[in-house]
Amino acid sequence: MYRLSLLRAATVAPVALERGSEYYMGLMEHLWAPWRIEYLRQPPESGCFLCQKPAENRDEENLILYRGRHNFVIMNAFPYNPGHVMVVPYRHSSDLEEVSDEEAKEHFEIIRETMSLLREVMGPAGFNIGLNLGKVAGAGVADHLHTHLVPRWGGDTNFMPVVCDTKVLPEALAATYKKLRASQ
Ligand SMILES: [Zn+2]
Repeated sequence: MYRLSLLRAATVAPVALERGSEYYMGLMEHLWAPWRIEYLRQPPESGCFLCQKPAENRDEENLILYRGRHNFVIMNAFPYNPGHVMVVPYRHSSDLEEVSDEEAKEHFEIIRETMSLLREVMGPAGFNIGLNLGKVAGAGVADHLHTHLVPRWGGDTNFMPVVCDTKVLPEALAATYKKLRASQ
């Protein structure tokens, strides 16, 4: 524990100072996800990837798990925990007040269904579910609404650094994708 705290202090603090709002997601600020540094180091993308991915026809590579009428489910490529997914309206909007009743209803239904799927396949003890609205609130993609679903396990802040690193993560993501896809 002591060594982990040292590591956290050494690695996270400078990043957090530099790009504080993106690193800390409010709800989940205590999760330790060192591979996200790769995400923070990426140059800003041009265009909106939450519009781009569903427009392409390669759901498996893009980690799109499910397509509804108004919303889709995509796995987070830089997850806070295994099984971290996002429920996203197709429509590009940052304004929650702009979402129609029909879109909102389906959005919530999909959140519930995705939760049961994650519960069944991955057996988490709890979830963090939430929206970060605006850069200042920790939204990585502030222009396009998305709800995060992050499965939680007892002690996950401790075991994650041991079981995940940036090298194994793409494989872990693909494996989780296949598992979730097969169980739908
Ligand atoms: Zn968009």
